[in-house]
Amino acid sequence: MAQNNPLIHHSPLGDYEARRAVHPKRIDGPFRRFKWLIMAVTLAIYYGTPWLRWDRGPYAPDQAVLIDVANRRFYMFDIEIWPHEFYFVAGLLIMAGIGLFLVTSAVGRAWCGYACPQTVWTDLFQHVDRFFDGDRNARMRLDAAPWTWGKVVRRLSKWTIYLAIAFWTGGAWIMYFADAPTLVRDFWAGEAAPVAYITVAVLTLTTFILGGFMREQVCIYMCPWPRIQSALMDEHSLMVTYKDWRGEPRGSVKKAEKNPGAFGDCVDCNMCHAVCPTGWDIRKGPDISCITCGLCIDACDRVMRDVGRPRGLIDYITLEDAKAEAAGAPVRSPWRNLARPRTIAYFLIWGSIGAGLLFLLGTRSHTDISAAPDRNPAFTVMRDGSVRNNFTVKLRNMENRPRAMEVSLQGLEGGRMWTDTMPAERAARTLRFTVPADATESVRFYVVSPQGTASQDFAFRLVALDEQGETDTAETRFESPVGSAGE
Ligand code: SF4
Ligand code: SF4
Repeated sequence: MAQNNPLIHHSPLGDYEARRAVHPKRIDGPFRRFKWLIMAVTLAIYYGTPWLRWDRGPYAPDQAVLIDVANRRFYMFDIEIWPHEFYFVAGLLIMAGIGLFLVTSAVGRAWCGYACPQTVWTDLFQHVDRFFDGDRNARMRLDAAPWTWGKVVRRLSKWTIYLAIAFWTGGAWIMYFADAPTLVRDFWAGEAAPVAYITVAVLTLTTFILGGFMREQVCIYMCPWPRIQSALMDEHSLMVTYKDWRGEPRGSVKKAEKNPGAFGDCVDCNMCHAVCPTGWDIRKGPDISCITCGLCIDACDRVMRDVGRPRGLIDYITLEDAKAEAAGAPVRSPWRNLARPRTIAYFLIWGSIGAGLLFLLGTRSHTDISAAPDRNPAFTVMRDGSVRNNFTVKLRNMENRPRAMEVSLQGLEGGRMWTDTMPAERAARTLRFTVPADATESVRFYVVSPQGTASQDFAFRLVALDEQGETDTAETRFESPVGSAGE
């Protein structure tokens, strides 16, 4: 059979089906309007976020959302994440993953149907098609028409808009990594970093190809998510379903009028298939091609309204309810299954991680101290018999203002310290520093202890000298030629 199918290509590697161009028909309805809304919100967030400003004072960037790779910071409005706090980013990624599990088990492939970037950009490009070439029938005619100058001009104009959208998309991405207005100026002046141009070029190309040409092929053949999703769904998950027990046998209104009772509700108008952005005919049953966008529901509900039959021949429904309905049970609300053990469990895990992150964020300290002792040599015996150890101490100030801090020795009786920026005569058990805003200050500390001091543990204790009074301690060890204390 494959031998006779013109859409099947034969190659030494085997048979594969050539892509059939999908020309979805314009449709209006609640799901289409919801798709518009999600598209507007997601695109506005993606393109607009880098331009939002956020006043953090004179010592930090004023871009609301910024991944500052050079200074190793992630800014998100009032939140500033340092490299040692990467667990916040990991936590957010885990939340996003569990959020997808939650959405999938509750409402099926809603992510694919509405919010996935591939869906959003494909939808955008399909509207560009409609703008240049008209609705479904006109586009199909133009596709089949021979190449004339008119068709060439139309195609080139459309692809130019594709390219502009793709370039804008790639350009918006790099704005998240540097001050947006400055980067735009540098970019057009040819003064941006090479990686900026390479990133824009790669993203422009991928958006142009994936959104402009490959479209539903990405969902069907490239994306792993639909395969994972099927493992997350159960008989209580919502799916877009054609109710064949109600629609079959299908037949036109005329046929139904001639043979009352011989046909189901489907009038075989093909509207559900015509509006599908992936070209799937939902009457064939669920398939990986169906991203559950609900546009066929809009189309069929409109047809049902026009022919005076009840809506919902195609609808969001769970497998369990579909079986019950097919057996004669009344139609039940598809939303009553949202809260069930699996979705509640996902929600509790998701919410607990979120609450944990919020708690950590609210209680985290904005100061930090760490100490690394020199180990070669571990100690130096001074002329007067006292013993000296050297340390590299890091004082971290995570606030957007300079802060006065006090570092003192905890333990190590008789010990004193000084730094490489002060004379040894001023050695003391407590020293004061001013750590610049949003910075980590690395300081060489020399700690000296009287002759006969044994090797022992001690700590550097840091206290912020401001209204917050935050404290932190770095435990370390003092080495001496005398054995350990207590030995
Ligand atoms: S079959 Fe219906 S729900 Fe599925 S992708 Fe097509 S239009 Fe959307
Ligand atoms: S839109 Fe409804 S009536 Fe028309 S072919 Fe599809 S299922 Fe049948």
